[in-house]
Amino acid sequence: MDLTCTEAEEAFRHELRSWLARVLPALPPRPDPADWPARRAYDTGWQRTLYDAGYADLHWNAPPTRRLIFLEETERAGAPYVGANFVGLLHAGPTIAAEGTDGQRERWLPGILRGEQVWCQGFSEPEAGSDLAALRTRAVRDGDDYVVSGSKIWTSHAEVADWCELLVRTDPDAPRHRGITWLAMPMDAPGITVRPVRTLAGTTEFAEVFLDEVRVPAANRVGAENDGWRVTMVTLSFERGTAFVGEVVACRRVLAEVVGHAKETGAWDDDAVLRRRLARLAIEFGVLWRLIQWNVSAGAPGVGGSVFKLRYSQARQELYDAAAQVLGPGAAALDAGHPWIADRLSSLSYTIAAGTSQIQKNIIAERILGLPKGA
Ligand SMILES: Cc1cc2nc3c(=O)[nH]c(=O)nc-3n(C[C@H](O)[C@H](O)[C@H](O)COP(=O)(O)OP(=O)(O)OC[C@H]3O[C@@H](n4cnc5c(N)ncnc54)[C@H](O)[C@@H]3O)c2cc1C
Repeated sequence: MDLTCTEAEEAFRHELRSWLARVLPALPPRPDPADWPARRAYDTGWQRTLYDAGYADLHWNAPPTRRLIFLEETERAGAPYVGANFVGLLHAGPTIAAEGTDGQRERWLPGILRGEQVWCQGFSEPEAGSDLAALRTRAVRDGDDYVVSGSKIWTSHAEVADWCELLVRTDPDAPRHRGITWLAMPMDAPGITVRPVRTLAGTTEFAEVFLDEVRVPAANRVGAENDGWRVTMVTLSFERGTAFVGEVVACRRVLAEVVGHAKETGAWDDDAVLRRRLARLAIEFGVLWRLIQWNVSAGAPGVGGSVFKLRYSQARQELYDAAAQVLGPGAAALDAGHPWIADRLSSLSYTIAAGTSQIQKNIIAERILGLPKGA
């Protein structure tokens, strides 16, 4: 892995840095997380701004160094996070880029990059989360369409999405990993009902999605019929391996702020255990950043993404626990209005979303270390 920046890439870093310094001061704050339609407008508006300035095309075309520079500089400058564009930009888009036809790439990728399409992920079902291959949402071919019925749950951003990367069962008689198909479903199709679910932090960032004979054109199928499990592994490798890249940069910034706060309050000088805790986190996030460089430079990181996902989601929780410790006993009385407390509440979900820690451990044990199944 050679990630040495060329002169042209260093020039790109400087140009991006000065562009951000010009543009960001005029940007209003991101709307309240309880108002997803306003957040959608804000997030897609920022994506359009990036696109117009020539900085959007970094997720599936650019050399890894350029992408890493973009992430470092946008985070350093405090630019908005991908937000509602998460699924489209970071795993549906990369999946279509890797597995779609030329026509499908043409049809969806420019719209995602311009911030015109928000995507959600319809993988989990009430009885198919960790055991994703147990999914039962059914799709029956009828002429040029699939007719889809069933239900999905925990669908992030479903309320404001235009498209859904949807997993359906197209052959109920095949072995369960073989009868699955990956479809792009328009969220305005008749027969879709979205029912928001309220989170611990009081927001409705995900929802239940009910599908009643929804017609999805067969032309929206990515990969072959019944080959959706293989396509899904590509999606999950992006989701676990590279989608949280920007957030690691953000965690490193928060860690520096937490250390700064500990120094201001005197906790840094008084508490050697806290100092060791924060030092260990600094090392941890440094290692995670190296893993990211490796994953980004590999393109689709494969099962190696599980190593990153496991450690990142745990380190994130440890960071916000440490932040609460640094805030002191009063932290318990602070509500989600304090950014560290809001992030502490949401960090609990990171060891569940995109596959739980237990599932990542199973994958690492079986597919990376070659340990026997069920041992
Ligand atoms: C914030 C958030 C956002 C999400 N967004 C989306 C989304 O946009 N789209 C989407 O499709 N899904 C989404 N999910 C769903 C997520 O992928 C599932 O919650 C996750 O895969 C776990 O599935 P489950 O909830 O059905 O738990 P279960 O599978 O019922 O698991 C319950 C517990 O049993 C453990 N367990 C289960 N099987 C095993 C095993 N074989 N070995 C060891 N332990 C096991 C699990 O680790 C877990 O601790 C989201 C979840 C969260 C929290």
